[in-house]
Amino acid sequence: MFDDREALVLSIKNAENLHGHLGPFLVIGVKMAKLAMKELNASENKVLNMQIFAKLPLITPFSCVLDGIQATTHCTVGNRKLRVKSSDNDITVTFKLKGQDKTVKIRVKPQLVEELMSQLSKGIPNEKLAWMIAAKPEGELFEFQKR
Ligand SMILES: [Zn+2]
Repeated sequence: MFDDREALVLSIKNAENLHGHLGPFLVIGVKMAKLAMKELNASENKVLNMQIFAKLPLITPFSCVLDGIQATTHCTVGNRKLRVKSSDNDITVTFKLKGQDKTVKIRVKPQLVEELMSQLSKGIPNEKLAWMIAAKPEGELFEFQKR
């Protein structure tokens, strides 16, 4: 049995493999997906009958969030379990298991996005910021709604 930290590292490596590089917004996607799956009591090791609706700016680095979600949930644009809509600045993702009423809505804290953009512009390496995000508790990253 892996502990949570080891499981997170594996998920991040898996997402990096799909995405082609490691960065903080990719890790945000991974952590977001894991939080939603935990809240919905969804098992990680099977293909999920989940519907995900993501609203975010469709430019990098923001769009990197999508690959973190796809790698972790196996809900993809291609299998139509992930729908994507462009937004001006907000990163908000809604997760729902098919046949269940529960919905989890997760928004990346705007001040975190600002902080990351400023650190990236100062030349702090993507990988360093990625592991910094990995170490942060969910409460510092996300605003969270469960219905
Ligand atoms: Zn990226």
